[in-house]
Formats: sequence, structure tokens, C-alpha cells
Amino acid sequence: MNRDEILLAQKEFLFPAVFHYYAEPLVVTHARDQYVWDANGRQYLDFFAGILTVSVGHGNEFVNGRIHEQVDRLVHISTLYATEPQVALAKKMASITPGGALRKSFFTNSGTEANEMAIMAARCYTGASEIVALRYSYHGRTSQAMAATGQYNWRLPGAALPGVVHAHNAYCYRCPFQLTYPSCDVACARNLEETILTTTSGRIAGFIAEPIQGAGGFITPPKEYFQIVSGIVKRHGGIFISDEVQTGWGRTGDKWFGIEHYGVTPDVITSAKGLANGMPIGLTVAKPEVADAVKGVTLSTFGGNPVATTAAKAVLDYIEEKDLRTNAAVTGEYLRQQLEDLARKHSLIGDVRGMGLMQGVELVLDRKTKQPAAKETNLIMEAAKEEGLLIGKGGLFGNLLRIAPPLNIGKSDIDEFARMLDGAFTRCTAMTAV
Ligand code: PMP
Repeated sequence: MNRDEILLAQKEFLFPAVFHYYAEPLVVTHARDQYVWDANGRQYLDFFAGILTVSVGHGNEFVNGRIHEQVDRLVHISTLYATEPQVALAKKMASITPGGALRKSFFTNSGTEANEMAIMAARCYTGASEIVALRYSYHGRTSQAMAATGQYNWRLPGAALPGVVHAHNAYCYRCPFQLTYPSCDVACARNLEETILTTTSGRIAGFIAEPIQGAGGFITPPKEYFQIVSGIVKRHGGIFISDEVQTGWGRTGDKWFGIEHYGVTPDVITSAKGLANGMPIGLTVAKPEVADAVKGVTLSTFGGNPVATTAAKAVLDYIEEKDLRTNAAVTGEYLRQQLEDLARKHSLIGDVRGMGLMQGVELVLDRKTKQPAAKETNLIMEAAKEEGLLIGKGGLFGNLLRIAPPLNIGKSDIDEFARMLDGAFTRCTAMTAV
């Protein structure tokens, strides 16, 4: 099929809810390392990595080599049988979770399913049912995961399941209490107590949060936030679920998991996306007592699939071998400097935030009023594409540029990125001035 035939078929045969970026949708035909190519043969620098999923580069030779071997050996048999790839990955997982405390894994096929399992495990373990999630969060697209999601635009009709309440997040740029860190004394975290006392039975099953909120706009809490919150959750009988679908696997620099930057050991970690460099996988890894509380039997046909778990183990080995957690910290710092330079140059940029190779740029019409610049964000996305650069978008107001390249990029890629993004801002300013 050529480009036009692909787009026509998409329109006719897919649910229209499957949306894409760009007024003229980009038809991607192939990719290698940090580059992708469209149906016209044009090359783009990929600084969104398939939504933070191509963690070690497109078509990574090391990972693909292991995948090819496994495809020829065993593709599928289901969890009714034991296989080496699944247990090898679970064993590795137990050795890298914070403090080695989370030791038992359950594999599925997506972040959504990973969170479903975590919430179910919290309910089994505590005997309580209420879940506290955060405003601006994104946890997936099943009924339960959508109910936990804290943004109206990702909640389809029917998502308002009972049993989930939403506490304040630490959106410092738009503080819900109009305070300023650190003199605020992290009031948003302390407010969780009141949320639990006024909107739940007082005894909760668990608290689920992303260490840095992804779709919500790379919202990055101050360092005390999760310590305060986890203490309150514990006092009310709940367990702490860290949704690391976007923040896992070294993305935030130096550590395997985003929550480790906050000095808190969660009871459950969920992940997906970057774990298998694009092969579908979901992970729920828990403290043994939580995993053991899920009594009876449950099954995910494709969960623990030999090819997906082989890919995931290869990704972890590659990240370790190439020291990519350090690379994410070092190149992430350099990326941050480039973005702050751009912020000095372009007044549309209101805030730059994030950690490691997960950096967000919030666009506003006016730095004082902070009115979200949603239309301009779309223009920047289009202009970046014209420059040959792919980046992501997000935020409740659709005014956040999400920058998250593969973890194995170098400084020269960031220089190329910064030049193109600068060009996109200049084009956009010229367009809006006309
Ligand atoms: N949690 C977070 C933090 C996510 O970003 C996502 C996906 N954007 C999910 C859960 C759901 O993952 P999936 O799309 O694989 O179901």
C-alpha cells in the first residue's frame, strides 16, 4: 500500500477514536536507532521513541538478535507451562527492584493490565477496596484504569467507577494551593490526609501514582512529596503502587525506577512501555506478601510470552552493559541545559521540568497569567515535524511538549534536536505574528 492507501484504509477500517498527531498524519515505514522514516523516504530524529517505549533505539541489534533466536525456538505456549524466558526475567526483576524488596512478578501485555493487577492485588492484600489516585494521572484504558486516571480527556463514558478518589498532585507550576515550594511545606502532600478522611471510609486498599506524571504533563513532584504521602497511605492501611510505565528502566537517570529518587520503597511497581523496546509487555512486581495474597487462580494467555520476556531481559542486560542509566542522567542534564537556553530565547516557554531523559516544556501565552498555549503547541509540533523532528505532546491543557528520546543517544543528537526545536519555535513565532 502507498501512503494514501494506508491513510484511507485507516479511516475506513479503524475506530475513529484511534487518533494521530499532525494535521497530515505521518505514515512511518521503518526505523533505525534514533531515526524513523516516512512513506516519502524522509528521515526524522525521534525524540519521543514511540511514547517512551523504544528505550534502547529502534531495531536495536543486541535486543533483536535475542528476539530472533527466541522466535525460532518458541513463540507461545501460555502460562499453563513453565518457560525459561519468563522466570529469567522475573529473577532479574527481583534483583533490581528497590532494596530487592519486590520479588514476585506477574506479566501481562500492557501498562493498563499491569495496573489492573496491582489494584486487584492491593484489594486482595488489604481486604479494603478504595483506591486513591492523583489528579492529572494516567493509568490506562480499561474501566478500572480509566477510573483511576485523573484527566477528563482520557476518561471515556463509563469510566466513573466507584471506589477511586483523586488527591492533589504536586503541580508546582500551577500549585493547587497557590503556594510556592519550599515555603509551601509541600501542602499538597499533607492534604492527602484530608482527602482520605473526607472522601473514603478511612481505610484504603492502596495509593497509585506515577513518580513523574507522563500524559499529565511530565509533572515532577519535589523530593519530599512521596515520603510524606507514603506515610499517610500506610497509616490508613493502604499499599503504595508506583506506576513506572513511563519512568522505569533508567529513564529518569541513574536509577532503574523513578520512585528511587524519592527514597521510598513502594509495595508494588507496575511497568510496560520501555521494558521490552516495543514488544508488548506489562509487569506487576510486588512484595511477596502482596503477591501471595492473590489467592485462587488467574491467567493472562499472552502474559510472560517467551518472545516478549526475552526482549525485556535483553533490554535490561543492554541497559546495564552500556551503563545507560548514567547516560540518561548525563545526557539528560545536557538536554535540560539546552531547553533552558531555549526558554531564555522564546517567551512561549513557561516551564521546563522533568528528570533525566524525560523532559517537558510547558507553553503559555503569557508568563504572568500562565494561560495555556494549546494552539501554539500544535503549531510547534507541526513545525518540528517540518524540521525533521518528532516530539510528543501532553498535559491536561494540551500545552506540554514531551521530550523523551531513546536512552542510548549522545550529546550530538541533543545538539541536533535543540537546533531543530529552536527552528520550530522560530517558524511558529513567524506564523503567529502574521
Ligand atoms: N500508566 C502510565 C503512566 C502510562 O503512561 C500508560 C500509557 N500511556 C499506561 C499506564 C497504560 O499503558 P498501556 O497503554 O500499555 O496500556
